[in-house]
Formats: sequence, structure tokens, C-alpha cells
Amino acid sequence: MSTIAENIAKVGVRIREAAQASQRDCATVGLLAVSKTKPAEAIRQAFAAGTCDFGENYLQEALEKQAELSDLPLTWHFIGPIQSNKTKPIAEHFAWVHSVDRLKIAQRLSDQRPAHLPPLNICLQVNVSGEASKSGCNPDELQALAQAVTQLPNLRLRGLMTIPEPTDDPSEQRAAFARLRELMQGLNLDLDTLSMGMSHDLEAAIAEGATWVRIGTALFGARDYSTT
Ligand SMILES: *Cc1c(COP(=O)(O)O)cnc(C)c1O
Repeated sequence: MSTIAENIAKVGVRIREAAQASQRDCATVGLLAVSKTKPAEAIRQAFAAGTCDFGENYLQEALEKQAELSDLPLTWHFIGPIQSNKTKPIAEHFAWVHSVDRLKIAQRLSDQRPAHLPPLNICLQVNVSGEASKSGCNPDELQALAQAVTQLPNLRLRGLMTIPEPTDDPSEQRAAFARLRELMQGLNLDLDTLSMGMSHDLEAAIAEGATWVRIGTALFGARDYSTT
């Protein structure tokens, strides 16, 4: 078994145990493998071990890997910051975008989504940690943004995403994820997705209702940015 396959098995156990601890069906928690900075070969190994959903943050890097892996039936998720001049390739080459935090980006993604593809699945990224974090819309802007995004024809608003301020305190982790869940409930829209939880806090996220956990380090090892 490859190291990646072993890691996938270990993360699978963590997901199942966390789901069980809060009486959730583990089938409702999806594993999104975050493959940024990792080579196509690592994705191949993860796919061979049963993982189909991959998250990427950097557009150019993602497009290169998609081309190398076009023989595999993978589902690609864009999870990084989005510049408005990069929306077209994102609309063309991904099934999901988790990091929409302003209407201009959503409008461009809808306009640029090719007609032959199904609607692009969207999560709105929310900043639940206040000043400490720069990415994500403010909670008080969320209602208006969500309402506007539901009107865009080529997008399907699925739910919310957050990257809270890192903390080792499980109760603080849970408080941030609970906030995202409550914000989604407060929207009163037909949403089914909470994209929250990473390698160090997936248990807290699952306890608060995560439906995608975005896992990089625990699957692929530490990232090395020195060569990029
Ligand atoms: C890198 C990244 C992850 C994965 O983080 P790990 O701590 O390596 O599991 C998840 N979500 C987003 C948005 C990321 O950029």
C-alpha cells in the first residue's frame, strides 16, 4: 500500500469516528483531497485508493494537473482566492468553487460557465474569525450575497465555506464551525453543503455538521513551497 493510500485509510477512520461520535451517517461527510503543490502522480495514487474529489488553490497549477490526469474521472474543486481575470478558466474547468466571497466573481462565473456543462456548484466563503482573517465575506453581508447568487442562472448555490483562524482548542474550533452552520440555517435557503474542517480540525467540523472536509497535509504530507 502506498503512503497516500495508508493516509486515506487513516483519515477515513477519523471521519467515521467523528461522524459516529455525533450520530451522523459518515456517508454525509465527503472527503475533498487538497492536492495543491502536489504532483499529478500523488493524485493518481489517491484516486487508486478510492478518492475522486480534489481541491486546488492555484489555477495554473490545477490546469496543468487536470491535463495530465484527463484519463481519470475526477471531480475538481477550486478552493483558493479568485481574481476576477481568472474566472473564465475556473468556470470552464471545475465542478465546484468553494471560495466565492463577492457578487462580481459570482456573476462572472455564471456568465462564463459553458452552456454544455451543468450549473457550477458554489459555496460562499465566510469570514467567521473577524479581523484575524482576510478571506471571505463578512457575516453581515452574507444574506444579500446569497440572495443575489441564487438568481444567477448558471450557478447552483450549495452552501458555505470557512477557514477559521487556526487554534488547537477544540471548543474554539467548534465555536467557529457552529457559527458557519448557524449562518447557513439563518439564510433560509435550500442549501445542503458546509465546507469546513482541515487536517487539524476535521473532528470539530464534523461535530458541527461539515459535509466536505478539505484535507491536504494528512493525506499528502507537509507542503514544500520552496521550489514553487
Ligand atoms: C490548503 C488548504 C486546505 C488543506 O489544509 P491542510 O491543513 O493541509 O489539511 C483546506 N482548505 C483550503 C482552502 C486550503 O487552502
